[in-house]
Amino acid sequence: MRTGSSEADAVSGLPSGRAGKKAVRLALSLLLLSFLCPLAAEPADSSAPVPVVAAPAVQAVQAPVDTGRIEITAPDRVHPGDPVRVYLRSAYPITEGTICLKTPNGTALQSARIFALPADPDHSGRYESAALLGVPVTKLPGECELELSWVAPDSHRSLLRRIYVTAKKFPFEKIPLSAELSTLRAVPTQRKETETRTLDELISVFDANAVYASGPFSLPVAGKRRTAGFGDRRLFAYSDGTSERSVHYGIDFGEPTGTPVLAPASGLVVLAADREETGNTVVIEHLPGVFSILMHMTSLAVAQGDVVLAGTVVGHVGSTGVSTGPHLHWGVFVSGVAVNPDDLLSSPLLDTPALPGAQSSNGTP
Ligand SMILES: [Zn+2]
Repeated sequence: MRTGSSEADAVSGLPSGRAGKKAVRLALSLLLLSFLCPLAAEPADSSAPVPVVAAPAVQAVQAPVDTGRIEITAPDRVHPGDPVRVYLRSAYPITEGTICLKTPNGTALQSARIFALPADPDHSGRYESAALLGVPVTKLPGECELELSWVAPDSHRSLLRRIYVTAKKFPFEKIPLSAELSTLRAVPTQRKETETRTLDELISVFDANAVYASGPFSLPVAGKRRTAGFGDRRLFAYSDGTSERSVHYGIDFGEPTGTPVLAPASGLVVLAADREETGNTVVIEHLPGVFSILMHMTSLAVAQGDVVLAGTVVGHVGSTGVSTGPHLHWGVFVSGVAVNPDDLLSSPLLDTPALPGAQSSNGTP
């Protein structure tokens, strides 16, 4: 049995303040640009996403501009809980567009907006943009579709690409709760309702200029002892004999009380508050629509509105909220969907080196 961890899956927070951070964003954008330039010349490796569109070869840089042509790179196989990175390169800036993950019968599982990346690093005269979304961790295996639509100079365009969600097994864990924790988790209160609603609103924010994190994420604690994994299926056993099923939307690290908690990547602190179910909680906006949440801390070291660099101490491990022992919960949301934080440790979300190998398509006007 895993120990020392349990908390509610629903979380909430406060609306964010964003004024006065443009200079910092510019500096971080320049950092991102310097990061992208050398990598753009490297060949794509086997871990890079594969092109989603089988179409004519990429046009030469010097060729006359074809405003209809666009190169798109995205994975063709994903697991439940994976982030999905989609990159676009086009002859015109794409400032308005969406990507939607759909089942074959047209049911939308998730959608995200396309955002522009910093100015073209290789002077090819083409514009780069990206969209980030996540595969719901409860998605059953099967074929899905990525539907892209965007505004071109002459018309709206769209295209579809098949993407396959492969099977993945998740551990099961039964968590007995004391009478006190049973009440804290299961009994509705006005405060919980308000906090849940406001956090849902907070992580739904999309700010196309919020490009803070350029590289891979890093672990938020120095120790590596894990007490629960992302996607674990849980059964909370309440003190009155009833129970409730849940899914764990993050990773739990078992660490002593007082252990420093580090920002897993640079970003804007959009919430730093004591919440009823998740205790002392910090939410950091890293990229457009991408947020980390760090929960159950004994104390906070940042305030809403702070801009933090990767590794900045944001608080200290504790056992506040619905928690059975000292631990840190780290979750990541991409466009409102929980994704596996481990996936961000090995490769950055903005992984544009894959772009040179992309193929092109005109899309469907
Ligand atoms: Zn947790």
